[in-house]
Amino acid sequence: MGANGINNIKAQLEGLNIRPNPALGQNFLCDDSAIELISRAASYDGQHELMEIGPGLGALTGALIGLVPRVTAVEIDANMVRALKARFSGEAGLDIIQSDILKLDIPSVMPGTFIAAGNLPYYITTPIVTRLLCLSSSIPCMTFMVQKEAARRFFAAPKTKLYGPLSIMAQYYYDIQSLLSLSPASYYPQPDVDSEVVRLIRRDMTAKLEPKRFFGFIEALFAMRRKTIYNNLKPILGSRDAICDALSSAGIAENARAEELSIDKLAQLAALCI
Ligand code: SAM
Repeated sequence: MGANGINNIKAQLEGLNIRPNPALGQNFLCDDSAIELISRAASYDGQHELMEIGPGLGALTGALIGLVPRVTAVEIDANMVRALKARFSGEAGLDIIQSDILKLDIPSVMPGTFIAAGNLPYYITTPIVTRLLCLSSSIPCMTFMVQKEAARRFFAAPKTKLYGPLSIMAQYYYDIQSLLSLSPASYYPQPDVDSEVVRLIRRDMTAKLEPKRFFGFIEALFAMRRKTIYNNLKPILGSRDAICDALSSAGIAENARAEELSIDKLAQLAALCI
């Protein structure tokens, strides 16, 4: 399987005296052709700085350096950070930050426009992607390796179980492509599930709602998914008149539920309420 093949990853871990930590979702990508495809897709137009989430031992990092002007790699695990610093010492195009991506103040680390990529730790895929979607104005492209079920969430349609804030935010701001499916055999150690690479390319942001406010609104509408939209709007709009006005202006029935509504309808309603 090449430089990142299973035996090579095992040898790297043994040399560093590190055991993969399942609690941190450490399944290392061993498939060189997948690494090549992801890094090429992720580097987009080659113009922007890139933030890599969860670089691990650096399989993707090594491929990304050279394709973009600067890579900022954010890794929580001190062992991985040590390994990365040793492997890429003297590499001018790489910054390594030891941090929990869910706690990091991303705009202070990536103050301009940037692209995002990573073989994401599966246990926190939704909160990571949600944080980044709230920064859509700064991120023209994101490429992620995720669990198959999480990938389906990106594409989910109304009236399905997986349709929710992540699907709505992703489809409202981005065109989404599925680039590759991978079986557990492409990783060491092997995960229990298949994976998929998805790429999000931002749509024209003119006239789009501000991402954080739109997310807050959608999250409130899906807080109790089985409740009617009327009930979920109460904490936001307060009076019965205000709720009925907004619903009738958007052409939405009082007894509808958010999960039944198209993204266009939800955006139309949000424009009246936030
Ligand atoms: N990119 C490497 C690869 O493809 O081989 C490793 C991917 S592994 C699926 C996920 C990586 O995310 C691990 O290195 C893990 O330590 C790191 N990670 C887990 N939780 C994290 C968090 N909250 N913030 C930053 N990195 C995290």
